[in-house]
Amino acid sequence: MHATLPLLEATTFPALRRGALTTLQVNLGYRCNQTCVHCHVNAGPNRTEMMDSTHLNLVIEVLKARSIQVLDLTGGAPELNEGFRELVRRARALGVHVIDRCNLTILFEPDQEHLAQFLADQGVEVVASMPCYSLENVDKQRGKGVFDKSIAALQQLNALGYGQPSAGLRLSLVYNPQGATLPPEQGRLQADYKRELKAHFGIEFNELFVVTNMPIQRFGSMLISKGQFNSYMQLLRDSFSEPNHAVVMCRSLISVDWQGHLYDCDFNQQLGLPLPAGGAVRMAVQPHLRDLLVQNPDGRPVRTADHCYGCTAGQGSSCGGALTGE
Ligand code: SF4
Ligand code: SF4
Repeated sequence: MHATLPLLEATTFPALRRGALTTLQVNLGYRCNQTCVHCHVNAGPNRTEMMDSTHLNLVIEVLKARSIQVLDLTGGAPELNEGFRELVRRARALGVHVIDRCNLTILFEPDQEHLAQFLADQGVEVVASMPCYSLENVDKQRGKGVFDKSIAALQQLNALGYGQPSAGLRLSLVYNPQGATLPPEQGRLQADYKRELKAHFGIEFNELFVVTNMPIQRFGSMLISKGQFNSYMQLLRDSFSEPNHAVVMCRSLISVDWQGHLYDCDFNQQLGLPLPAGGAVRMAVQPHLRDLLVQNPDGRPVRTADHCYGCTAGQGSSCGGALTGE
């Protein structure tokens, strides 16, 4: 795979500082039952990196110490971490809102038969990748057979109350483009998804999050192979939108890797760009979850590079979809 960091480090992206920390996004490990083309984590069945129980306990301590309102669980497939369910139970007992970034097909893996019921019982928000409402596009990007399993999983979640207006169980889908283009307008695409998934499969969901492909890891490497890296970066730079800069997700979120190291976002984590050690509050050279027990990261500078233009381009992009509009 081609390395993208050397192409991104020299940047003109405007400086950023953190605001109040509201979300801890924890990567529970890189193992996954899928190997998607666009995966920025390079996750797959052969990855062995998984967060251990010491660090899972530390997550709970940090939620308490910093009064964090949202725990956003990602991976890999976060559910494959043996401590996933215990972590969810403990966070929910604290009143923390928990998000599971679920690939849907995990519901059909061995030992995961009761996963959907568990998520519903705990009131966990499910955010699921669904890059299209057609079989051909989904299977091309995420692997053969993924579309049919995803549809079956969404139907299972609907049957438990997910995506139904009255049940209070939020189900959101995530769309990303197939190629080196910006995503279409979120509201319009959401209307298409709602119409098509309801008409053909009876599926309902709350929101569609439209996200921009980041020029890193597998997708970045693919751009380099096809000679499209520079033109895609130029598209992202040319589409810079100042209002998005004010609300990028790293202002309110910290990303944690499976070893407890801290990053400004999951993209920086995958690029190996840790939270800066300097700033108003001193942290270790490689800041760690345990630092958050005693130190407040608010107001610290964010580590930026050229991929940050992926968050500000057009309607903007974050783990919660579009930001402020074009
Ligand atoms: S399901 Fe998600 S984590 Fe797993 S390979 Fe696909 S994009 Fe990566
Ligand atoms: S890539 Fe990460 S650090 Fe850069 S703007 Fe986006 S969220 Fe912030």
